[in-house]
Amino acid sequence: MNGSIVLFGPPGAGKGTQAKRIVDLTSKPQVSTGDMLRQAVSIGSELGLAAKVFMEAGELVPDEVIVGLIAERLKENDASGGVLFDGYPRTIAQAEELASIAEVSAVISIEVPDQSIIERIVGRRMDPETGAIYHTKFNPAPESISGRLIQRKDDNESTVKTRLSAYHEQTSPLAGWYENQGLLIRINGNQSIEDVGDEIISHLSN
Ligand code: ADP
Ligand code: ADP
Repeated sequence: MNGSIVLFGPPGAGKGTQAKRIVDLTSKPQVSTGDMLRQAVSIGSELGLAAKVFMEAGELVPDEVIVGLIAERLKENDASGGVLFDGYPRTIAQAEELASIAEVSAVISIEVPDQSIIERIVGRRMDPETGAIYHTKFNPAPESISGRLIQRKDDNESTVKTRLSAYHEQTSPLAGWYENQGLLIRINGNQSIEDVGDEIISHLSN
């Protein structure tokens, strides 16, 4: 596959969790706008300051901020053979912009019902040293590192509801947009982490 791959789905669908297997299979670097924005917030850059209020409220960061971030990232050498986008694009405007600067070969849509999303997000924990993603119930971290795990500030029940509304209003229309272009691959995200991964890999290996 020469172009880029998009990992698509609601917050908590399992995009970040599945990214590693796709990176190992395709050797395309993961480009997560959420991770890039959190990094900008933590160093206190101008972009981070602009993004912070939206992220903490669970709203989407304005398109013009995201478009600039992606344009810069795609100029780097490792992006020349396509990348794995995680959490981008999230609006039709972002997808149109992406279409004008890069080729998208496949859109992997991880489908999970709303009822499962809140439990997934509220139980999510991250290892700040390795970036690994865990879940208190569905994917517990080894005892030896449990003391250093962190919880994202926006991973609380009230912010999740705002994020889900933003997803349904602004992001989910993209599924139809990509389906019309013959690029959408629907994956059942409501099964074990391993089975979701196997389903994704079987599509990408064809
Ligand atoms: P996203 O990147 O789409 O927001 P994550 O990969 O961070 O989602 O996953 C959200 C939470 O759900 C994490 O705590 C993760 O461990 C858990 N999770 C991911 N995939 C599954 C799955 N198939 N079944 C149960 N929990 C999952
Ligand atoms: P999740 O997969 O749990 O929704 P992300 O890490 O992808 O979390 O995103 C966290 C927050 O960063 C979002 O709620 C939003 O405020 C912002 N964000 C990330 N990517 C984008 C994007 N492509 N467009 C607009 N806002 C974004």
